[in-house]
Amino acid sequence: MTEVTAFDRVVAAVRGKPPDRVPVIPQITYTTAQLTGVGLVEALHSPEKTAKALLAGQRELGYDGIYAGWESSFNLLAEAMGCTMRYPEDDVPQVTGHIIEDSSDFDKVPIPDPNSTGRIPIHLKTVKLVKQEIGDKVPIFCYVPGPFTLAGQLCGVNKLMIATLRDTQFVEDLTRITTTASKRYIEANIAAGADVIVAADPTASSSLISPAMFKAFALPCLEEVLAVAVRKGVIPALHICGQTTPILELMCDTGAKILEIDHLVDLRKAKQDVGDRVCLQGNIDPTDLLLTGTPGAVEQAARSCIEQASSGGRFILSSGCEIPPAAPLPNIKAMVDAAEKFGRYNH
Ligand SMILES: [Zn+2]
Repeated sequence: MTEVTAFDRVVAAVRGKPPDRVPVIPQITYTTAQLTGVGLVEALHSPEKTAKALLAGQRELGYDGIYAGWESSFNLLAEAMGCTMRYPEDDVPQVTGHIIEDSSDFDKVPIPDPNSTGRIPIHLKTVKLVKQEIGDKVPIFCYVPGPFTLAGQLCGVNKLMIATLRDTQFVEDLTRITTTASKRYIEANIAAGADVIVAADPTASSSLISPAMFKAFALPCLEEVLAVAVRKGVIPALHICGQTTPILELMCDTGAKILEIDHLVDLRKAKQDVGDRVCLQGNIDPTDLLLTGTPGAVEQAARSCIEQASSGGRFILSSGCEIPPAAPLPNIKAMVDAAEKFGRYNH
């Protein structure tokens, strides 16, 4: 019998065929810097150092997928389009300055060439280096911006929220631009080696907009960008932070084959609602458990997730969102070990 690779395990889970055990993929990027001692800001400009840390994380902890690149890589596109970013020494970078005041600015917004703009080439090189090393054994996940979220980065989330109520043409025109930019970014990530394209759309969360707004503004764009992944033969996934219970069906309608759901979502209910349509991925609390909890508490939470959502396959054990840089590695290890301990399928 040939060995089951992490890649096989994930593909089986996505197809709804129970693998040997529940796949486990913590959403861990920066946190792996603890293993190689590289500084966060230092590694932003070094694909080699970033790739080394990401690979060390997978090798030491033994999880079933690698999130490359480094910070929430979907921010890189906003930066390449002209937004300013803040780079704290000890935390994930954030978009701070916006480039769109009103619709007269739309003409000035560039659609970046991912191979030559901003820090995107550094990110793409990181993905290539990880792919060279890991081959087809472990799938590579790449975050890309959901067009609605990217729109919020370009004009500011408040302005976008107001426009969804008062100026829908503004939202439609702006998301047309961001959809085009996002598609180009996705193609570049796939060319570099991404196996799973994860559209990250935190601004489309039910914590921020209603299901009707989601359907009107976020869903059509997501459908269009994830279709690029489908066309290129890689797995389309969708990550939305916070509460998403009211939009789980709509999230499936985007064409995503994996839904990354946050810890606020009742996993059992999600499994009941959409477990036959999509592979659910989640949803251990990244802050209260993985950052400040104990390995024992993480193990218990992981076990509970497996009990709630693993039946029949279509489940990947994960954190509810990106793991904070300072999360202790023994907590991540406890999560990975729990998949082996409690996540075996009996064939
Ligand atoms: Zn999230």
